[in-house]
Amino acid sequence: MIKETFTKKIAENTNLSKNDAKQMTDLIIRSLTEILVAGKVLKISGFGVFRVVHKKQRMGRNPKNKEPHVISPRRVASYLPSKYPCGRKRKLFSYTPEEILSRFHEGCGGKMYKAISVYKWVYQRGVREPDAMTDIGKSLRSQIKNDLRFELPKIETVLKSTDGSYKFLYLMADGYKIETVAMNHDDHFSVCVSSQVGCAMGCKFCMTGTMGLKRNLTAAEIVGQVYQTAAYLAEREAKSLRNIVYMGMGEPFHNYENVVQSLRILINGNGMNFGNRRVTVSTSGLIPQIERFLKEEKANLAISLNSVDAQKRAELMPISKKYPLEILLKTCREYTPELKKRITFEYIMMRGVNDSPEDAVSLSKLLQGIKAKINLIPYNMNNGLGFERSEENTVNSFQSYLLNRGFVATVRYSKGQDIAAACGQLVNIKKTA
Ligand code: SF4
Repeated sequence: MIKETFTKKIAENTNLSKNDAKQMTDLIIRSLTEILVAGKVLKISGFGVFRVVHKKQRMGRNPKNKEPHVISPRRVASYLPSKYPCGRKRKLFSYTPEEILSRFHEGCGGKMYKAISVYKWVYQRGVREPDAMTDIGKSLRSQIKNDLRFELPKIETVLKSTDGSYKFLYLMADGYKIETVAMNHDDHFSVCVSSQVGCAMGCKFCMTGTMGLKRNLTAAEIVGQVYQTAAYLAEREAKSLRNIVYMGMGEPFHNYENVVQSLRILINGNGMNFGNRRVTVSTSGLIPQIERFLKEEKANLAISLNSVDAQKRAELMPISKKYPLEILLKTCREYTPELKKRITFEYIMMRGVNDSPEDAVSLSKLLQGIKAKINLIPYNMNNGLGFERSEENTVNSFQSYLLNRGFVATVRYSKGQDIAAACGQLVNIKKTA
């Protein structure tokens, strides 16, 4: 809370952008923490508990019981270099080049090109061993070695589909597993990344929705999926990884900060250089985050619609009870004049649920006035969830109607149907095997 207020104040009183103000706050807190530790105002116990021991320090006092105030060890440790007993190593894959400069300001001699150089070694040359970064000064290399972790999610299983797509089951450091799919297209691959372990949204047609939310993925874990998948494909395939979609396990906007941080890292021109045009974030319809995303980010936005009937949508996607269909579309309509790109509306086609000619008519009426593109996705069957894929003829007629009404409407058949590529399927198969 204090950190947010501090950042806000800096942004208000300087010309700094919000992101730069955040970095400035981090730098100030880190410097202050080091000064307080050096001056023995903060004491570090062997177990990583920090206490303000200087009795006259007002900032450390709990006014109610006059006891020394215990600061969350995780919070403070995150600002400390690893030379302190509980200073934790941070993950390199969660940093933008600006943050590398901020953390290693001294080692970089305040020079941005040095931070960029580290970034290029990691993302463009695939080097994760600081000693091998030969054009970087020795002291910066050793600081990086001491302060940063380069770990990535581990590949536990890889399945290859007859259509050339891959499905990866990644193992996280804490034992949780997530899925990533590399979808094979004519001249490139797209990667579909997970943003959470499980999902709290509980969509009735989705296997991940049956798991509930276990935890958010960190920005490093999201970036790690793309990094590992790109490296795996580069060793085996002539085609490159071109696009990223945040459409795997989890609701990306329920983990907004980490998703946006990962996006900024992945689009960075000195890193993997995907660029905004090649990244799409898909949401089930969290309106406040949609507004924020449209205002602050330039990547593509997709909204999972799936029904034109408000009540039916709320049954299929419980989040629609909190953020009703009508308000969701009103929000998109309001932002349309400012939009440079179309919002993609995904429509999973389920037989007898949302695929009638009347549904096509209602959909075309509902999307009037919105800069929209419609992506029809024939349902990827999940055992036991009670939904079936629409017939091919039905899908084609639905698409024709929309095209005739002047919409951009595409059909996207799921890739990797023989390898359980729909989100949540592989994790659940593995659990029950
Ligand atoms: S469809 Fe997406 S938002 Fe809905 S439960 Fe599945 S992962 Fe979550």
